[in-house]
This record gives sequence, C-alpha cells and structure tokens, in this order.
Amino acid sequence: MALTITDVKVITTAPEGINLVAVKVETSEPGLYGLGCATFTQRYLAVVTAIEKYLKPFLIGKDPQRIEDIWQTAMVSSYWRNGPVLNNAISGIDMALWDIKGKLANMPLYQLFGGKCRDAVPAYIHADAKSINHALELVEERKEAGWHNIRVQIGGYGGENPNIHKPVTSTSGVYYDPKSYMKTVLTTFEKLRVKFGDELGLCHDVHERLTPNQAMQFAKQMEQFDLLFLEDVLPPEQVQWFDHIRAHTVTPLAQGELFNNPNEWIELISKRYIDYLRLHISQVGGISPVRKIIGFCDTFGVRTAWHGPGDLTPIGHAVSAHLDISTPNFGIQEWSCSIKENTYEVFPGTPVVKDGYIYLNDKPGIGVEIDEKAAAKYPCHDKLPEWTLARLPDGSAARP
Ligand code: MG
Repeated sequence: MALTITDVKVITTAPEGINLVAVKVETSEPGLYGLGCATFTQRYLAVVTAIEKYLKPFLIGKDPQRIEDIWQTAMVSSYWRNGPVLNNAISGIDMALWDIKGKLANMPLYQLFGGKCRDAVPAYIHADAKSINHALELVEERKEAGWHNIRVQIGGYGGENPNIHKPVTSTSGVYYDPKSYMKTVLTTFEKLRVKFGDELGLCHDVHERLTPNQAMQFAKQMEQFDLLFLEDVLPPEQVQWFDHIRAHTVTPLAQGELFNNPNEWIELISKRYIDYLRLHISQVGGISPVRKIIGFCDTFGVRTAWHGPGDLTPIGHAVSAHLDISTPNFGIQEWSCSIKENTYEVFPGTPVVKDGYIYLNDKPGIGVEIDEKAAAKYPCHDKLPEWTLARLPDGSAARP
C-alpha cells in the first residue's frame, strides 16, 4: 500500500522558558513519523495556526517521500510567500519529511547529504557579561570548560549605560547609547586579547544596533582584535552598505539570522560582501532550501554559520549539525547556552557538546525525539522578551 501522511500535530513547549514549536508528521506506516522545528518564538501561535488550519489539510493523504514537491507546492499555494510565519510552518513540515526519509533509508540525515566532511562540528558559545571584568571571568570559565570559540557581549545587545542621557520623561523600553556601546566593546576586546592572547576565537554580535556610518567605523576599529567574525553589523534593510564596509576593513563579517527571502542574501553572497551566512534555518523554510543555499555559498567562497539560539528546538539544532558535518564550506556553529537539563528531558537525543565540538547520535533521520508528556510540563507563555523593545537615548524605537 502507498505510504501517505495521516496526521500533522503541533507540539508547543518551553522547557527553558523560551517558547518552542515542534511538528510531528505521522504516516500510514505504523510507528513511522517525522519531527521538525517551526519555532518563531515571538509569534508562535501564528505558526501553530498556519500548520493546523492550512498545512495539515493540504498534506493529509500526500506521499511524505515527495519532499521537494511538497515544499514547492506548500510555498506557492498561499500565493503570498517568504514571510516568517509561513516559512517557519513549512520548515516544520520539511524537516519532519527529511526525518521520515532518513528513517526509511535507515541512515542519519548527514549520510543522505553526502556523508561526513569532518569528524565533529566546531561550535562557539556565548559569554553574556554584565561588565568588562565579568566578561574576562566568563571567558576564562568557558575556556576552562573546553570552549575554543566564544561570542562576547557586555550588557546584552547595545550594552547598559547607567549614565544614559535621557529627556525628563522617558518611554519604557531597553535603552542603549550606540557611542558608549562601541567604546565598551572595544575596551573589552582589548583586555580579552591582552589576557588570552590569540589562543581563542572571539566574535561579537552588534545585533543591528548601529547606524551605517557607525557600523563602518566599528567594523574598522574591531579589525585589530582578529575576530572570528563581527555579526549583524547592519539591519537587513541596510545591507546595501556592505560594499562600503568591505572597502574599509578586512574584519570578517557574518549576517543573515533575520533573512526570510532569497533576495536578501543573493547579492551579499554573489558580491562576496560577507564571509559567513547565518540563516535561521526554520525562518527560510527548512532543510530543502538551505541545501541549495549551501551550494550557492560554496560557489562564492562564503561559509555557513547557522543561527543557533535558544529559540530553536533541539530538532533544529540537530538539523544544523547534520548540515554542518556534511558541508565542505561550513565555518562554525553557534551553540545555545539555553540547552540544559529540561531540554534534554523533553527532547531525548539532543546533540551533546564536548570541548567545543558538537556530536550527533547517529540514529536514523534527525535523531531527536520529543517526550510529549514532558513537553506538557513546560507550557508556552505570552510574554515578549524585554530585549525586543529597544530604544535610543531620546526615546525613539530602535532595531532590537
Ligand atoms: Mg545574532
């Protein structure tokens, strides 16, 4: 009898307090199902609706082996496309279909992608410090824990400045001052290089908090610290400035976690304006489009460094690792600090990290399960993360 999709379920959970969305695609073969990541944490219910109300009826009865055809038709059947909600919904389905494909082949996903290009996946971890001295301590701790590559931030994104010059009354929000932020980061990296020499790979995420001219100055000033990369130095709306930044500095540049639409990355890659593409894989529609993007990047000498934040299920983290281990032009993988005990409880099979390397478990498909009973113990919530409400000293809204 032909294999068909019989049901599509959405499982929401927040084991570390961050809303996650997983998708389960069930088939007509008893015990054969696939899991995928569809997490868009700040609008998770919109993704749940898109899957339950639109994709589920579209998919039931279809052959789960026809991944590419399902991706293409699911994407265009809404006519309007390439937005974050629908892309995440399609990603959940796409990853689940690849999981099924791996289980049918009785192979881990990376084997279907051509096999291993490396023995393990090098990763970097975050050091989110409250002060410069705290940053030095945290980096020391991470180094002692075996990490060789570390992203360093002071006071989150944009930094904290108690002396920020505000008007008499100010609108609520998370305030930062770009000038003082730039100065603090420069001082921090100077001290980090004095203390640790060049033994550590260091990176920093600007999180699109500078004007284009400030971004040019900052990227140039950071060049002396031999970064692994400087991330999101500009918002996606201002990427045309990258040719100016490239003309002024050789600081390696990474960009892309906010991208949804191919038109956002094509020129950055084909003109070689960035060194690392950092897509959020579920945000662009899952494994099927990302495999094509990897080949496109390889042609132009651009490497991959997929977004690996807390707002991604371990299914998504494992998918990144399967791609990383089988991608010749892979650079480095971000590893989330929020993968802790509760996450391993809800998602058995979550990859493990040792001495800065990620290890997959070699089970067929993606290799990560979901314990639905455990997932239900950690319900999602409707609180917006505070950092998304960023403001400049005069009270005007800024990119978060
Ligand atoms: Mg980032």
